[in-house]
Formats: sequence, structure tokens, C-alpha cells
Amino acid sequence: MHVRRKLVAGNWKMNGSLHQLAELSAIAAAARGAPGVDVAICPPFTLIASAVARGGGIPIGGQDCHHQPSGAFTGNVSAAMLKESGARLVIVGHSERRAEQQESDAQVLAKAEAALAAGLQTIVCIGESEAEREAGQAVDRCAAQLAGSIPELSGDAELVVAYEPVWAIGTGRTATCDDVREIHAAIRGALVDRFGDAGGRIRILYGGSVRGDNAAELFAVDNVDGALVGGASLTAEQFVPIIEAAAHS
Ligand code: PEP
Repeated sequence: MHVRRKLVAGNWKMNGSLHQLAELSAIAAAARGAPGVDVAICPPFTLIASAVARGGGIPIGGQDCHHQPSGAFTGNVSAAMLKESGARLVIVGHSERRAEQQESDAQVLAKAEAALAAGLQTIVCIGESEAEREAGQAVDRCAAQLAGSIPELSGDAELVVAYEPVWAIGTGRTATCDDVREIHAAIRGALVDRFGDAGGRIRILYGGSVRGDNAAELFAVDNVDGALVGGASLTAEQFVPIIEAAAHS
């Protein structure tokens, strides 16, 4: 039986400003008050260096990276560049990028490999659409994304999986605990099948409209090892209760 620390990671998406980094002080204070919980914030690229400086020690991460270390890829940022800017983690394969940038499993896999090779803790997102859930394909869809987007384990950097049902992201609709239990169990099974004992140590986050008032019940679900939080990570007022729920889980 593996004991996995809870990880509560905030994804600011294309939100935030230098002014908003003031939120990090209270978030860092809450993180210090929850020594059993890992807390991280992923602001836009432009805020990473400032967030590292003002983040009170909270790990700061990116929301994407390119799979190549450098080159003629206008507008992109490599994993090594993220690392140099002070980032300690990165999210890859978020459903907004899979949808808006048409990122395939193969591209997400390449990004995850590059991120791990650069020494970044790497959160790979998977999750079914509403149509796939209604068609009874949620487990199969997640299994396929997992098989296609998760790299081999190598090096010291940590791989994390985030299950984020697309229909629950930013909608205020949260998956039921039974649905989360089913998918997280399937993910755990696939990770153990593929990686053996190491698959039991990989943290699986839930993401999709996590808030202070639903975090505790989600964290009580088997194989929920934390949360990837969008909207509610933008202010300490909303994010701190999620950290506290993780601390008490
Ligand atoms: C996310 O962006 O990963 C996310 C889960 O967003 P929200 O918490 O706003 O649903």
C-alpha cells in the first residue's frame, strides 16, 4: 500500500497579472500550515519568474511546453526554458490545448518526455468529453489517452496524471464521487499494469470545478491524490480552503 501525499496544483490559465501575485503570500502561508500537502501554482509564462521570486517557496510551473529544446518554433517555450525561468513543474495535455491547439496524444507524449528529461515534475492531463461519457466510453477514452500520452518513467522527475473530464472544467459541474472513483481506479490499474510497483506511486489528481465546498469529498475517494484547480486557484480566498481540505483528508 503506497502512501501518496496530496498535491493541490493551481492552473491560472490565461489569467493573472503582476498585481495578482499578491495572492501567493496567503497561499504560501496556507501551504506552510499544511506540511503534509504539496501545493503548486502554474501562472502564465510571463509571470513565472516573478511568481518564483514572490511565491514564498511554492513551486511554480508552466501550463505547456514545446517538445524540442530550441529552434524555429515561434511563440513556443521549451521545457529547458521553463526550468531556467525557475519553474519546477509543467502541465501538458490540458484539454483546452488538446481542443484549441489540436494537440494529439503523440504530441502530449513528446512534451511529457521533454519535460521529464528537463527535470520538471510533469502533470499529464486526460479526460473524456461529455459525448464520450454519455456514450459510455469514459473509461475507454481515458485508457486510450493514458496509453498514448504517458511516457516511460526515467530519471528523477515525477510524473503525475490528472483526470479532468472535459465537461467539468470551468463549468461548475463536478463529476460524482462514484464516477471519479471508477475512472481513478481504472487509471491506477493501467499504471500498475504498465509500471508495476512504480505505478502505485504515481499521483492521480482530479480536476474539474473543484472548490472549497466539494474538495473534501473528492479527496476522500480512493486514488484521488489531489486536485488540479482552475478558477478556484486564482484567489487565496478560494484556493486556501482546498489546501485545507487536502490537509485534513
Ligand atoms: C483546469 O483548468 O484544469 C480546471 C480544472 O479548471 P476548473 O477548476 O476551473 O474547472
